[in-house]
Amino acid sequence: MEYERIQYDVPADGVARITLARPEAANAQDYLMLSELNSAFDVAAGDDNIRVIILAAEGRHFSSGHDLASPNPDMGDFPTVGTQCHFDAPGAEGYMAREAEMYLGLCWRWRNLAKPTIAQVQGKVIAGGLMLVWPMDLIVAADDATFSDPVVAFNVNGIEYFAHPFEAGTRLAKEMLFTGRPIGADELLARGMVNRVVPREELEKATLDLASHIAMRPMFGLTLAKQSVNQAVDSMGMYSALQAAFSLHHVGHSHNMEVHGRRIDPSGIDVIRSEA
Ligand code: ZN
Repeated sequence: MEYERIQYDVPADGVARITLARPEAANAQDYLMLSELNSAFDVAAGDDNIRVIILAAEGRHFSSGHDLASPNPDMGDFPTVGTQCHFDAPGAEGYMAREAEMYLGLCWRWRNLAKPTIAQVQGKVIAGGLMLVWPMDLIVAADDATFSDPVVAFNVNGIEYFAHPFEAGTRLAKEMLFTGRPIGADELLARGMVNRVVPREELEKATLDLASHIAMRPMFGLTLAKQSVNQAVDSMGMYSALQAAFSLHHVGHSHNMEVHGRRIDPSGIDVIRSEA
């Protein structure tokens, strides 16, 4: 399979690795990258020889988030996997359907893959970058990794996969959102937001060693273990909470469109830049 925005390889027995390959743009995610990621996850999930999937990234930073330079690509160019429709409808309808399909829908789909997934993370993970990391089961972080969601500055509640309370706990979730402050590797580890922190130069090997260790276990047992933890969080209402926050996210987009003529408050760009 040929990809433009990602790479796919099998670096060890039973382990597939998907790598974001747009380092010149800090791995900003356009619809092409998201669509390629989804098909690569499907390839790994459908390969009986693969038991663990790593999601890694080339370059200095894992991902700077969604590529705001291309907000409304032609949806006909990408195979959809959810149940959304009317992507080109005016008003909130089309835009909400797009984000439900390409953002929340894909994240939730990857979160529920039957095989264990590991995010291998270095540098900055900003806003939409978290939407690739948080759906993974385990996170191995380099010592230079930081997580941030500064998009409240754009006059919305946060990113479309609103897992902050589940990932960071309520106090830190609110602080992340209210201040946009990046959370550094030591704090991520102390808060249980990543599984381990390793020196940057050891990141690839540490992640691969962990994946290979997991891959020695039987596939069905791993799937049952994963689903049992996921179902525990689901029984706490995670999916309902994601849907509720997604709805408020689109109240924010619609408000901004009425007031500013754009889906985000443009003054947020200067706020975020002044803090960078
Ligand atoms: Zn949005």
